[in-house]
Amino acid sequence: MTSDITRASAAELADALSRKDISAVEATQAHLDRIAAVDGAVHAFLHVDTDGALAAAKDIDQRRAAGEDLHVLAGVPIAVKDVMATKGLPTTAGSKILEGWVPPYDATLVSKLKAAGMPILGKTNMDEFAMGSSTEHSAYGPSRNPWDLERIPGGSGGGSSAAVAAFEAPLAIGTDTGGSIRQPAAVTGTVGTKPTYGGVSRYGLIALASSLDQAGPCTRTVLDAALLHSVIGGHDPMDSTSIDAPVPPVLEAARRADVKGMRIGVVKELGGEGYQAGVRQRFEESVQLLVDAGAEVVEVSCPHFEYALAAYYLILPSEASSNLAKFDAMRYGLRVLPEGVDDPSAEQVMAATREAGFGDEVKRRIILGTYALSSGYYDAYYGQAQKVRTLISRDFAAAFEKVDVLVSPTAPTTAFKIGEKLEDPMAMYLNDIATIPANLAGVPGMSLPSGLAPEDGLPTGIQILAPATKDERLYGVGAALEGMLSDRWGGHLLAQAPDLADLTSAIAKEARA
Ligand code: GLN
Repeated sequence: MTSDITRASAAELADALSRKDISAVEATQAHLDRIAAVDGAVHAFLHVDTDGALAAAKDIDQRRAAGEDLHVLAGVPIAVKDVMATKGLPTTAGSKILEGWVPPYDATLVSKLKAAGMPILGKTNMDEFAMGSSTEHSAYGPSRNPWDLERIPGGSGGGSSAAVAAFEAPLAIGTDTGGSIRQPAAVTGTVGTKPTYGGVSRYGLIALASSLDQAGPCTRTVLDAALLHSVIGGHDPMDSTSIDAPVPPVLEAARRADVKGMRIGVVKELGGEGYQAGVRQRFEESVQLLVDAGAEVVEVSCPHFEYALAAYYLILPSEASSNLAKFDAMRYGLRVLPEGVDDPSAEQVMAATREAGFGDEVKRRIILGTYALSSGYYDAYYGQAQKVRTLISRDFAAAFEKVDVLVSPTAPTTAFKIGEKLEDPMAMYLNDIATIPANLAGVPGMSLPSGLAPEDGLPTGIQILAPATKDERLYGVGAALEGMLSDRWGGHLLAQAPDLADLTSAIAKEARA
């Protein structure tokens, strides 16, 4: 274990820590060393908190030595997406407009990680304000996919998934408004869960679209996701949309890992035309494994999913344009004075700051949102989109009358090249075609690796969706499938990822040539 701490899963690390085979300081230092070695190439982190992480680890070691009863994940380090407020640690949401902002408080989720004794390694890169599917919209440059450094690691939470895939962190926190946990998981060969809306507190999460945003775990295994879900889930009086109920029994389900007799629906509208052949092939093979394991698999139609993307791109910009109004140059981060204006008005300062501080994608969505919400257009756009949202929820309700969970490919393609879709917003938006319906309906979803696509050797993902508050079903099916896929692929897919040292030198060689 000590020789290869960063390769261990969080569950394995937790065991080693509780047996005192390793210390929390050793576990944390090993990951900090790995970050120092590879993050120059991967760029998963915007900020690494070496001192804070080691201090937290030292504290855990002392408490363990004193015989204190600690949380099972105590001493297991974690990375946090830069959209969560962390007291005393810079929090930018990937935007220039928040450069230099240091929150005076912790998000509830961050307080829970700290209470569990988990050292926070740092903050991970993301598309600006979580708008995107590649991290290329980060104001601080893109993250890179550890499978191929010339490709994107997905987005918006590409930094979190890349960190986990590159063994820089055993666990990370992501947020998923339209797919930003699940799509990066799919293209990096990792696991990502979007819990039921309201299952994890949004207090301290810098809002993109408040009715869609949900934080959740980015991990390498389903069991690790369940462990982390159990830490961060649960009711929070500080978030009025938080569900007042215990965390669903996700750990028990992950340990049971059983699909026998389960009814599983393949969503007819997801996974057909427009999906890469290898993504479809690995999906179909995974479905066959579920059949072989005794699940009852049927095709289910969700006819309104066809309109999900269109509805999302009205609802999301509408909510985002209103949420982003608070970046007014008065309270947080950047303040730019207009050039050549003596004694500028507050409005002029605000305009100059927003012009300089927001990137193109953010501006595009603010314009879309304010347009959709303007009087005269409100009913035609925002109102209509809300009606579609209701129809999508009804599709889910009807489907879950017939089946326990739904499955589909997570993303239509494997990781694309950096720059490939940057100039074509619609091509970028289409990445989330299969993940968005769950956000619109508030139901939970998980992506796990389904294999490597034959045409490019890159990871593919399968998505599992369950009814609201039944998150445990994701874990039961996910863990069962993970076990079968591990037999099929001879262990964890990430064991087949190229060595980052080789990739880095290949890129350096190319740059020299
Ligand atoms: N890619 C989607 C978007 O750009 C999803 C983003 C997210 O889930 N934060 O809106």
